[in-house]
Amino acid sequence: MFDICIYGNPVLRKKAREISVFDDELRGFVEEMTETMKVKDGVGLAAPQVDTSVRIAVVDTTGGEQEPSVLINPRITSFSEEREDFEEGCLSIPDIRLKVNRPSRVSVTAFDIDGKQYTIENADGLLARAVQHEIDHLDGILFVDRVSPVTRQLVAGKLKKMAKSQKAGTKAA
Ligand SMILES: [Zn+2]
Repeated sequence: MFDICIYGNPVLRKKAREISVFDDELRGFVEEMTETMKVKDGVGLAAPQVDTSVRIAVVDTTGGEQEPSVLINPRITSFSEEREDFEEGCLSIPDIRLKVNRPSRVSVTAFDIDGKQYTIENADGLLARAVQHEIDHLDGILFVDRVSPVTRQLVAGKLKKMAKSQKAGTKAA
């Protein structure tokens, strides 16, 4: 199982690179990501969160009922005009949950673990939310970047503290 990178770790702010080789190493990496997401009880996990700056995310909105979706080099091809507020959290930003306003529905194209391209048409609800949150991670964007300045102000102290202890932890390790 992987360790989760916490807010303040620079890997979370990098633009991740695309995957071009679909091999056993990739398969093993994705399996370990999936395992980590399950153990941490997450709805989604992006590779930068496990200190690897590549464009891979896993999403499971079924609470372990179904195999997680593996999104490699994912791209959102359409957003609905309709938007909604939805409370989000992040394994990399523990103990903070905030309402984030995003498009209600999205279509996504991605590659699976075998390198086969597939699309998810008009995902809505939790899936639409999770996919947007995870793809943001691949571009170095965190959900706290997408809240209003007033809301951001409310958690600024907590975030600062988190980033500080993160840096201290890195030095000690
Ligand atoms: Zn996240």
